Amino acid sequence: MPEGYGGIKMNYREKYKQHYGIDFGLEYEVHHLDLNHQNDDIENLLLLPRKLHHQYHFALARLPMANGRLDVDVKIRGILDGGQAMNAYILSALSDFVDVYYKCQDWKDYRAYLDGLIPDIHGIQLGGAA
Ligand SMILES: [Zn+2]
Repeated sequence: MPEGYGGIKMNYREKYKQHYGIDFGLEYEVHHLDLNHQNDDIENLLLLPRKLHHQYHFALARLPMANGRLDVDVKIRGILDGGQAMNAYILSALSDFVDVYYKCQDWKDYRAYLDGLIPDIHGIQLGGAA
């Protein structure tokens, strides 16, 4: 779920700002890539627009998971077995997740740009930090 504000623990948001020398407001959130909020290693953090961050967690929560992995029967057989409804749900959830995942990739690229690894290929400008 989205990281909250005002936690006792300091503040991976500030850590991210300081590490990258950037500033951003509450319209951005810092996501834990491994989903472990105890892991504030800079490599585990990724700045995302707040709305996209929430979309990611919402899309993730819809996926059928087992032990932290996708649990999908990819056989078309399910259609013949009358499994259309479940297949439609899973396909919809997967499609939504893929859309959000690609949007998040732009922000991973932005982090790689800030790390000096790639050029600024998306032209991301952090706005409204005031
Ligand atoms: Zn997150």
